[in-house]
Amino acid sequence: MNRNISVERPTFVTHLECSLTGEIYAADTLHGLSRAGRPLLVRYDLDALGRALSRASLEARETDLWRWRELLPVRRLENIVSLGEIETPLVPIPRSGGAKVLVKDEGRLPTGSFKARGLVTAVSMARELGVTRIAMPTNGNAGAALAAYAARCGIETVILCPEETPEVNVREMAAQGARVWRVNGQIDDCGAIVGRGAAEGRWFDFSTLKEPYRIEGKKTMGLELAAQFGWELPDAIFYPTGGGTGLIGMWKAFDELERLGWIGPERPRMYAVQASGCAPIVRAFEQGVEHAERWENAATVAAGIRVPRAVGDFLILRAVRESGGRALAVDDPAILAAVDAAAREDGLLLCPEGGATLAAYRQALSDGIVGEGERVVLFNCATGLKYPMPPAGEWLDRNAPVDLEAL
Ligand SMILES: *Cc1c(COP(=O)(O)O)cnc(C)c1O
Repeated sequence: MNRNISVERPTFVTHLECSLTGEIYAADTLHGLSRAGRPLLVRYDLDALGRALSRASLEARETDLWRWRELLPVRRLENIVSLGEIETPLVPIPRSGGAKVLVKDEGRLPTGSFKARGLVTAVSMARELGVTRIAMPTNGNAGAALAAYAARCGIETVILCPEETPEVNVREMAAQGARVWRVNGQIDDCGAIVGRGAAEGRWFDFSTLKEPYRIEGKKTMGLELAAQFGWELPDAIFYPTGGGTGLIGMWKAFDELERLGWIGPERPRMYAVQASGCAPIVRAFEQGVEHAERWENAATVAAGIRVPRAVGDFLILRAVRESGGRALAVDDPAILAAVDAAAREDGLLLCPEGGATLAAYRQALSDGIVGEGERVVLFNCATGLKYPMPPAGEWLDRNAPVDLEAL
């Protein structure tokens, strides 16, 4: 454990732990799911970390994702496959949201989505552990981030996406060197094919939460929020929930920060936002159960949250319930109206999933679930530029008389 005793230890990982049973697994070897078929969580020696790194020395560092390296799993800094993972800004949207509403704009990250956080960490670990071939089912953004980071370190990728995946994502993956296939099914149908190949030893399975390190990268959203809020946290977080990696990751981050003594015991209420055309977590939340059944005939414009079944369902539901939050569903017209409002009124082009968080926030405000004066963070997980926009087809003939008044 922690063999890398150097002047600056890059990480304080001690072991991995099954999120369901607590069974312990060794660090520094390749793992998928636990024997119980559930996600593995990475554990750190937080006492030693707290002695080696103070909040003040952390604050003196550059604000990028790797400022948190002691709380991330990579052992050797030379294995980090970076494309420049900046800290993302908190952008106010006073007109479409409200005075205290901030959008964490993840569209500024490499490959244009927050999938970069998870995949930069997972690919760096795959490299560290000697993986040469990775396969993944994806609705688009995860595959794009995987393709980019894997290309950068010479790992081969096979990527399967549902037939409805946005064209731009499919092309982006192909352009970044992935072997990409459309499949006539949903993301879990793609996942089943990836699983078969992994069982035959053809590749390593990079499905959401089926390898332990993506969640660690996504955790940095929670770490960043704490630093950006001056070591406090907002009152409420609205998170567009597909596989739920980010929500689970942030919840883990808050716990680790509290154990380090860097934040107190207060937590934001976590709101898991889904589309009403694919809302397995919302249904499970409302039924009061711990696991979510598969959502049949999933359909929504918000492709990133079109996930009929999540292996981390119980972790999402636990975090939401412990936080005093809720799981909320919004329909596609409300999602598109929110995207439109943020763009027209506040000049911020959200992705549909980001629009879903704004729509859910507006609904929650009018239902009295959140108060006007509360500090709220909405996650915009990808740049709106990757998504179809409403047509804008006005045409001007420069050779005809131009009615300037009408422009
Ligand atoms: C993947 C994705 C989500 C869902 O994130 P999870 O952490 O897997 O729940 C939301 N929005 C966008 C744009 C995504 O690409």
